[in-house]
Amino acid sequence: MTLITNHMPTAQLQALDAAHHMHPFTQGDELAAKGARIITRAKGVTLTDSEGHEILDAMAGLWCVNIGYGRDELAEAAARQMKELPYYNTFFQTTHVPAIALADKLAELTPHDLNHVFYAGSGSEANDTNIRLVRTYWAQKGKPTKKVIISRKNAYHGSSVGSASLGGMSAMHAQGGLPIPDVHHINQPHWYGEGGDMTPEEFGLARARELEDAILELGEDRVAAFIGEPVQGAGGVIIPPETYWPEIQRICDKYEILLIADEVICGFGRTGTWFGSESFGIKPHVMTIAKGLSSGYAPIGGSLVCDEVAEVINGCEFAHGYTYSGHPVACAVALENLRILQEEGIVDRVASDTAPYLKKKWETLADHPLVGEARIAGMMGSIALSPDKANRAAFAADPGTAGLICREACFANNLVMRHVGDRMVISPPLVITHEEIDTLIARAGAALDQAHARLSDEGLM
Ligand code: PMP
Repeated sequence: MTLITNHMPTAQLQALDAAHHMHPFTQGDELAAKGARIITRAKGVTLTDSEGHEILDAMAGLWCVNIGYGRDELAEAAARQMKELPYYNTFFQTTHVPAIALADKLAELTPHDLNHVFYAGSGSEANDTNIRLVRTYWAQKGKPTKKVIISRKNAYHGSSVGSASLGGMSAMHAQGGLPIPDVHHINQPHWYGEGGDMTPEEFGLARARELEDAILELGEDRVAAFIGEPVQGAGGVIIPPETYWPEIQRICDKYEILLIADEVICGFGRTGTWFGSESFGIKPHVMTIAKGLSSGYAPIGGSLVCDEVAEVINGCEFAHGYTYSGHPVACAVALENLRILQEEGIVDRVASDTAPYLKKKWETLADHPLVGEARIAGMMGSIALSPDKANRAAFAADPGTAGLICREACFANNLVMRHVGDRMVISPPLVITHEEIDTLIARAGAALDQAHARLSDEGLM
């Protein structure tokens, strides 16, 4: 057997990858023909690939490496825990110190009475927990017909059968027979794309009131919960109008619908507060967490649950759990990550210094002829590419054509920026410095210039 290492030629690694590795959200034959990019190491906000390129990772991996790459403390925490107790489960009336300590820390960090955590291995798993949790809550309260979970079109809540059903991605629903029953999708608060002639404020209210319409149409006795990301991430960093969340909150309160905030991206400092719910004035009963919980150094997620819901669930045997619920190594890594975020004041620095600086710079991109809008909330931003910015027009070509061209131009400029359709999105590590922000903006500007030239040359705008 060949020993496969970083020292192998890129083409050989790519051929082996194509032969045996099936990638998520990827057309395998297309990638095989082109060859996957191979990332070999990373430090701070910078990735190094097998060709020696140094790339600024403005996506923090997959929205997750909040403290940046290369923190030895996390590696050491993992090694220590692996030597002491690499694994034990939390089923059958047992527990261990890392699970206890992380639960205690989370209760301290979360707003209001979200004092309980049900651990999972990922955001998808945590949202699957939430489906069963809220339905079990209502069944325990003697209202077993309250099963429907209302979500939004273009939401992303994960890739398992349950969580992808909660999500509102039509391409995902088209594969594998989704959604599961009793999930209902209303429209998203995406003013730029769908707001027409309304002001953002009017539109935010109108879209929130679709929740009330849905509750009345379905019947209050059937609705269990509403789920939403404070800022839709994978949907294109859609920052809702200011009127949206207060109205959603009012409606959930009025009809006593449980409110689930999916904080998988927004949690742990991304929007400049510990949780996106705090930035947007949301008071959820349940919060989904993952990603920034461990800064991606170990796979872990969870559902944070308020006192009242936890009390009801604790009144029955909740027949649910994962082998890796509360995995000790992942918990130890997450604890160390939270210690660093807290002790180094990273979230505070985002709020008072780096996010305002990034916002000022990011919004200058709106002056570019290819950019219809540039918006940002804390450390998650998006720009809409447009052939006719005055009218917020979309491209005539298939959605995503211009976005892909722009993403390729970003890579050519050693910048990872993702495209969602024809929106470009960023979510850099929270430790990004002013100087690195300047580099990010300079590379984004160069990439936009090149994409603009190519789109014009190819008659796409
Ligand atoms: N919820 C949100 C808001 C997400 O962005 C994601 C992942 N991008 C998930 C859930 C799913 O998390 P995971 O990929 O860890 O299963």
